[in-house]
Amino acid sequence: DRTVTQIAAGEVVERPASVVKELVENSLDAGADRLSVAVEAGGTEGIRVRDDGVGMDRAAVERAVEEHTTSKIDTIDDLEAGVGTLGFRGEALHTIGAVSRVTIRTKPRGGDTGTELRVEGGEVTAVGPAGCPEGTVVAVEDLFYNTPARRKFLKTTPTEFDHVNTVVTHYALANPDVAISLEHDDREVFATEGRGDLRSAVLSVYGREVAEAMRRVDGGNGEADGEGVSPDASPVESISGLVSHPETTRSTRDYLSTFVNGRYVTAGVLRKAVLDAYGGQLAPDRYPFAVLFVDLPADSVDVNVHPRKMEVRLNAEAAVTRAVTDAVREALLAEGL
Ligand code: ADP
Ligand code: MG
Repeated sequence: DRTVTQIAAGEVVERPASVVKELVENSLDAGADRLSVAVEAGGTEGIRVRDDGVGMDRAAVERAVEEHTTSKIDTIDDLEAGVGTLGFRGEALHTIGAVSRVTIRTKPRGGDTGTELRVEGGEVTAVGPAGCPEGTVVAVEDLFYNTPARRKFLKTTPTEFDHVNTVVTHYALANPDVAISLEHDDREVFATEGRGDLRSAVLSVYGREVAEAMRRVDGGNGEADGEGVSPDASPVESISGLVSHPETTRSTRDYLSTFVNGRYVTAGVLRKAVLDAYGGQLAPDRYPFAVLFVDLPADSVDVNVHPRKMEVRLNAEAAVTRAVTDAVREALLAEGL
């Protein structure tokens, strides 16, 4: 029922950044080579994600906004007992549509007609043919207009934009082969070129000074050239990425980004493992930049402990963190740092 959907949506779609995350994931899933995100007032006034992915025909877009599965919750008590059990997969567009006004314009690759579909507060209010390029654009307006309690929890524009920026940055770094851009109130914040190399993505996102300070990390068990770190008893398949020279730092940990099996995760243990590699080389309360990809066998990691937090649980945590520290230390030592 609609009320339950709205409550569930409010729990999972917490703020504009959660909408952006779901839409960007959909665009990447659709095989986009180019993807642009534009938000207004931190996303509180509007969110638009455009891609050149496979697109949808009319039937597909009508299906996309439907509820895919029966909601697993019946009451608010169930919800509070643990929204972590709520399957959000197959539910993003539906739940976003339940708490906002959404316009989707989409055309399949190679197709000759586009479709525009509009959803307001969970109801499809219009659908019909529309002229549009191949790919998909989803525009979300009036987020939480029908859930005032949730709307009240939105923070200031700079704070909400900060969250959006963080999300888009992580996808841009994790997908250097896709040209990803972010615009806030009609101003370009960054745009990657999609050339495929991480350093050029870092340059677009963090700027030249940072990109030039980055050292290549290349470790783990799966090294074909045999030069990588091969920690015993570690399930790590590979560790790769870029970490900054110890003199190129910021006063926050926000620029330490860790990805497990290609997905951004907030993992304090991995951040700490990176910091440990710097030993005493960092000034007090200074943190390096790091974009680090750790690949593990699927059975040694439990991602998505919660659908909107990006926590991760690692088996053999000590061995994994040791491998990360070793790989980062090796990268710094290779430069004589
Ligand atoms: P999920 O991504 O988990 O399948 P969503 O509600 O996010 O659930 O999307 C529902 C469906 O709509 C997707 O499975 C996909 O088929 C289609 N879809 C959504 N966004 C796009 C897009 N940008 N391009 C093409 N298809 C899309
Ligand atoms: Mg999705």
